Amino acid sequence: MESTLLLRLKNVVKHFDISGSLLEQLKFEGGKIIRKQAIVQAVNDVSFDIMGGETVSVVGESGCGKSTLARTVMGLYAPNSGEIHYKGKRIDNLSRSKMLPYRAKMQMVFQDPYASLNPRMSVSQTLEEPIRFHNPGITPSEVADRVAHVMEQVGVDPAWRTRYPHEFSGGQRQRISIARALAVGPDFIVADEPIAALDVSIQAQILNLLMELQDKNGLTYMFISHDLSVVEHISNRVAVMYLGSLCELAETGNLYEQPRHPYTKALLSAIPRLGAKGFRHIKLEGDVPSPINLPTGCVFHGRCPYANERCRTEIPKQHLRASGSLVACHGVEEGRI
Ligand code: SF4
Repeated sequence: MESTLLLRLKNVVKHFDISGSLLEQLKFEGGKIIRKQAIVQAVNDVSFDIMGGETVSVVGESGCGKSTLARTVMGLYAPNSGEIHYKGKRIDNLSRSKMLPYRAKMQMVFQDPYASLNPRMSVSQTLEEPIRFHNPGITPSEVADRVAHVMEQVGVDPAWRTRYPHEFSGGQRQRISIARALAVGPDFIVADEPIAALDVSIQAQILNLLMELQDKNGLTYMFISHDLSVVEHISNRVAVMYLGSLCELAETGNLYEQPRHPYTKALLSAIPRLGAKGFRHIKLEGDVPSPINLPTGCVFHGRCPYANERCRTEIPKQHLRASGSLVACHGVEEGRI
């Protein structure tokens, strides 16, 4: 079956002004009062597509902008510039009311199920609320049927519908969060580190559940993770972000076997892999720079063993390769990596 374009991100930028009040911005420097603004440049010029039915994972260290990107895609943050298209329709500039039909089709699963579930609402109240909101004419028996159906789909006994979040384990709570996302019949789910807060023994169960639900319901996922080893088996393609920029995007097999960008190579070299040949551990020197004061040129140049003068001054462009993969690196473009 030929897949169709579901989501398109075009040059998405998201910055946060954390300068505070005008008074807080005024600094005394060199005998003069100057105004200093502090802008967190969380996401910078990110573009890629997600096709229907696929899983695209976005990975990178904490602070790389992946969760901000996820929330911007979901409309929880308005982008400063750039465009977000869903099924061919631009959605980043829609009013709340015009965005409503997309809200049902685009759902999010958060990292901490305990924080994302209301402790005062039973499972059935949690699941009924979005169903009623998005289906105004629905009858009580239809609501009850749909609640029971999504509970079964995520492996939680519908007989437990009157229980509250604290009566469940972490894994069960995440299943209920997934049920809440499924309750309104989405096409697309953004899962923001959905297993990071769970015990290791439970993580595989939740990943398997997400994959089963994808098969059964034809879902498309954007999966956010800091851990490349987690996403290998669930992703069709993987996007790697560093300091708000997209470094590389490739099919999972290609990315893990032949990473191109030096940052991807360094991330992968830190994962112990059985039988992997030719990978030596690459230790990155230095700290991740502040997103308030981004380095000039390639944002990775201060830690990259291949950096040259061009890297320090010129921002690398995303190069689309014949395989459909993207890489933004002067060294790769110049053929020296
Ligand atoms: Fe390294 Fe230069 Fe490539 Fe950036 S552009 S990753 S500094 S080689």
